[in-house]
Amino acid sequence: MFNLVIFGPPGAGKGTQSEKILDKYGLTHLSTGDVFRSNIKGETELGVLAKSYIDRGDLVPDEVTIAMVEDFLTNHSEARGFVFDGFPRTIKQGEVLDDMLNNKNTAIHIVLALEVVEDELVRRLLERGKISGRSDDQSEDKIRNRFNEYQQKTEPLLQYYEKQGKLVRVHGMGSIDEIFNNLSEAIDKAQSAA
Ligand code: ADP
Repeated sequence: MFNLVIFGPPGAGKGTQSEKILDKYGLTHLSTGDVFRSNIKGETELGVLAKSYIDRGDLVPDEVTIAMVEDFLTNHSEARGFVFDGFPRTIKQGEVLDDMLNNKNTAIHIVLALEVVEDELVRRLLERGKISGRSDDQSEDKIRNRFNEYQQKTEPLLQYYEKQGKLVRVHGMGSIDEIFNNLSEAIDKAQSAA
């Protein structure tokens, strides 16, 4: 298996670049945000639970998110590898993910961190909010709260993966294709080393 994490603040382009990575490398996508949103739409128990957190721009509690990811991995045991998008978002989630993959005799091979300046992130999210209607993209307050959550809970993972020698920082400004070329180069290198 070959597994990667696409990492970055809200609005960094994780979803957009994930789609291109899946196409090129034949991996399976796990976007925790997408799974939550489809559960909210379907009004499942999980959706009802997650909705209030997501609407405020808070992270969903670890137990809930981790249980969902465990289910997903169990239901996709045939996958050649995963693109983890929006997960892990806390050190706890990172540790549990390492354990889960270890139990499958595999690991995270590379963490691609997209770097984008904050003004550009806010601009992109407000723009997306107009088109997608996503509740958490509708106001600058909610967006700022998501950045706070990111800085406090998610950013420490950069060091976690740096220590493991897995972190690759990628400039996340420019055209979608330029960014994708940079990501591809890093993935190709990691694949030949794996
Ligand atoms: P973005 O990257 O634009 O913030 P996502 O679609 O990845 O959007 O996530 C939307 C929301 O879903 C997050 O703000 C959070 O409330 C919730 N969420 C997604 N992934 C996780 C996670 N791994 N842990 C906790 N909450 C999560």
